[in-house]
Amino acid sequence: MKLLEGKVALITGASRGIGNSIAREFVQQGAQVAFTFLSSVEKGQALEKELSEAGNKVKGYRSDASDFEAAQQLINDVITDFGKIDIVINNAGITRDNLLMRMSEQDWDDVLRINLKSIFNLTKAVTRPMLKARAGSIINITSVVGLMGNAGQANYAASKAGILGFTKSVAKELGSRGVRCNAVAPGFIETEMTGELNEDQLKDWLSNIPLKRAGKGTDIANACVFLASDLSTYVTGQTLTVDGGMVM
Ligand code: NAP
Repeated sequence: MKLLEGKVALITGASRGIGNSIAREFVQQGAQVAFTFLSSVEKGQALEKELSEAGNKVKGYRSDASDFEAAQQLINDVITDFGKIDIVINNAGITRDNLLMRMSEQDWDDVLRINLKSIFNLTKAVTRPMLKARAGSIINITSVVGLMGNAGQANYAASKAGILGFTKSVAKELGSRGVRCNAVAPGFIETEMTGELNEDQLKDWLSNIPLKRAGKGTDIANACVFLASDLSTYVTGQTLTVDGGMVM
C-alpha cells in the first residue's frame, strides 16, 4: 500500500541532500510533489524531469524560502498547479559555523533568516488553505543541535531550537481545525552539509552514535512519510529524533 496516495506535498530545498531524499520517497509513496530550490537550478530541473517519469505530478519552483513575499507567491502557485496542499515540509537550511568570538552579524542573520524565518513564511502562507480544508500536516526539519547545542554552531542551534518552540505553538493553534505540526530532528546525516566537516569532527560525531553509522537521507524521509501520512493522525506538536540514538 502506498502511504501518500492522493496527497500533495510541498518540500523546500529538495535540489540536494535530505530534501532530495524526501522528494524521492514521497513520490515512491504515491504523493504528488512540489519542491523548491534556490541556487542549484540545474539539479532542481533534473529532479523534476526524473521524478515526473514515475507518472506522479512533480514540479520544481525556484523560490527563496527566506523571502516572505516569495513564500506567499509559492503557496499560491502550488495551489493553482496542484489544486491543494496537504503536506508542507520545511527543510531548507544552511550552516555558517564559527565560534561565537568570531561569528559575524551577517552569519547570525543569514542562518536565522534562512533556517527559522523561512519556516514562519511558509507555515503562515499555508495556514489559511489548510484551515479551510480542515486538514494538513506541517513538518519542520530541526536538528539534534537544536536540542543539545554545539560549540561553533550558536547561530544554527538557536535557529533549530526556535523551530521547536514554533512547532509546538503552531500545533496548539491549529490542532482544533485538523492541522498537525511536528518536527523531525536529524542527527548526523551524510549530505553536502556534513561533507564540510573535517576528519576529527567526523570521528567525534560517530563516537557518540550508538548505532555506529551516519544516517542517510532515506532515514529522515521515512520519518517524514510517517508524520505526513494517516499513520500519524493523532500525533502533533512532537519532535521525532532520528539520530541513531545520539540523544536520549
Ligand atoms: P544541504 O545538502 O546543504 O541542502 C540544503 C538544501 O536547502 C538545498 O536543496 C538548498 O537549495 C536548499 N536551500 C538553502 N537555502 C535555501 C533558501 N533560502 N530557499 C530555498 N532553498 C534553500 O543540506 P541538508 O544536509 O540536506 O539539510 C537539510 C535540512 O536538514 C536543513 O534544514 C538542515 O539544517 C537539516 N539537518 C541536516 C543534518 C545533516 O546531518 N545533514 C542534520 C540535522 C539537520 P539550493 O542548493 O538550490 O540553494
